[in-house]
Amino acid sequence: MAVLYCAGPGCQRMLSVSVIPGGNPVARADPEHFAVDFLVCTKCRKGFCDRCLPPESAFHKLRSCPECGADLATRAIPHHR
Ligand SMILES: [Zn+2]
Ligand SMILES: [Zn+2]
Repeated sequence: MAVLYCAGPGCQRMLSVSVIPGGNPVARADPEHFAVDFLVCTKCRKGFCDRCLPPESAFHKLRSCPECGADLATRAIPHHR
């Protein structure tokens, strides 16, 4: 299972970058350790879970990476085919 660690300070959650629609069932069953909803920076590739970057946060609203300021994309790991 492809996972990415959340870049949020002190956050130990893994981000499920599964391509399964609706998220990986293992991740969904363990929300303490896996985030199914998250944003990924298009530049530095850091991921931020929905707790570190909740929808009401400024960075989320601006779609701006807290680390480098580049655009954030929703689960934006591009799939290389
Ligand atoms: Zn970034
Ligand atoms: Zn986090």
